[in-house]
Amino acid sequence: VKELVEKQRRYFQSNVTKPIAFRLEQLQKLRSALRASEAELDAAIRADVGKGSFETRMTELYLVYDEILVAMRELGDWSAPRGVETDGLNAPATSTIRPEPLGVSLVIGPWNYPYQLTLAPLVGAIAAGCTAVVKPSELMPRCSAALADVLRKAFDENYIAVVEGGIPETTALLEQKFDKIFFTGSVPVGRIIYQAAAKHLTPVTLELGGKSPVIVLPDSDLALTAKRLVWAKFINAGQTCIAPDHVYVHQTVAKAFLAKVVEEIEAHDYAIENGNYVQIVNRRNTERLVAMLDASKTHHGGTYDIERRFIAPTIMTKVSWDDPVMKEEIFGPILPVLEFDDLDVVIARIKEQPKPLALYVFTRDATVTEKVLSEISFGGGCVNDAVMHVANGALPFGGVGDSGTGRYHRRAGFEAFSHFKSILAKDFAVESDFKYAPYTAEKVAGFAEVVAAIATGDGEA
Ligand code: NAD
Repeated sequence: VKELVEKQRRYFQSNVTKPIAFRLEQLQKLRSALRASEAELDAAIRADVGKGSFETRMTELYLVYDEILVAMRELGDWSAPRGVETDGLNAPATSTIRPEPLGVSLVIGPWNYPYQLTLAPLVGAIAAGCTAVVKPSELMPRCSAALADVLRKAFDENYIAVVEGGIPETTALLEQKFDKIFFTGSVPVGRIIYQAAAKHLTPVTLELGGKSPVIVLPDSDLALTAKRLVWAKFINAGQTCIAPDHVYVHQTVAKAFLAKVVEEIEAHDYAIENGNYVQIVNRRNTERLVAMLDASKTHHGGTYDIERRFIAPTIMTKVSWDDPVMKEEIFGPILPVLEFDDLDVVIARIKEQPKPLALYVFTRDATVTEKVLSEISFGGGCVNDAVMHVANGALPFGGVGDSGTGRYHRRAGFEAFSHFKSILAKDFAVESDFKYAPYTAEKVAGFAEVVAAIATGDGEA
């Protein structure tokens, strides 16, 4: 690992990754490699969790190809030095902000969307001109192997390398000095990554998780709300970082809402065999989720098969914050529905919790929407939908507080792997004597006037 990082550092230092033409060529290579390996990628994810081709295309490849497409189209613009105004003390001069690649980067991926969440950051790294060591999640072993195969065929390890493995391998990687670490995963591991990065003062992007709430107001279209929420919750069997974790529904419509939710679940024919549903990633997570179930509070579903790593789409009601299901991020196909009558109480409750990665509000009332959006801090979200904000690459994606730090997708992804170097440039033509000693009475009075003008807002330097 040490040698690999050193090799990448030498490669980066040789400046080959910096020209835009090189980066475009590598993005094209990544695209071609993925296109050529779609069948293998598809088979690997089916073997790991039973994910069908439709979902693999929609939730894994679509977003990655979109990232590549837009990066190739926009890279010239993103990477161009940007001129800004020059202050009075420095004029005449030009001031520019020049993006430059941070250097050797480390991308650590999670298992839940093993391709998208490893490759989308990699697109940012390539676009920015970094080299990258990619560490896919060991919990999806076939996907990890398939990813390694694609990337090893397409790239030399001086430039893009894959290190497969679990905690020991990641720990060894984290001992090295990287110029950027991009981590997607859980909050507890996020803390480990942040501490390891701190030793080398390495900048990080942490894409973490948490309990993302939904608020359903009585004026929403209940049928469509249920349809969108059921899709968002049960896609990937709830193993989505921005999945609705739990729903607060106004008590006046709770019964009607629950009926629509059950109708929706039944309409979608969720089964692993037909490709409409996926397995839980492993036995440990299946058991973790089963321990959250409580037959006395199960409104719908609740069946499971630990051997097959299957848990039916499940709705729980009458849960309180003391129930196991409310104590941690669920990250599985269990949806607690809580009732409320006072929006302010719900808002206060959410604000007592760590800042969520996502939040969803369903209402036709613009005042209520504005209240929720302005009073609660969270990573990102939707009004009258759920999860779909991640599909719009134009919206930077990331958490805040416990749900993460930094953001990516398209330009934000490029920026995550870039440093913005500020340059003041002058020529040798003129030089005012103003700033140089001796500070004559005239200079002192002159500068006092300048300061006074700025302090009172009457003028600029
Ligand atoms: P995880 O934190 O267990 O693992 C993520 C990565 O960290 C893996 O590559 C793993 O090998 C590595 N890792 C695990 N333990 C480690 C340790 N002790 N030291 C060093 N490295 C270690 O996360 P996961 O289970 O793969 O993913 C689920 C979590 O990720 C959920 O909390 C979910 O919300 C979050 N998530 C967030 C996003 C996002 O974009 N914000 C996306 C997907 C998942």
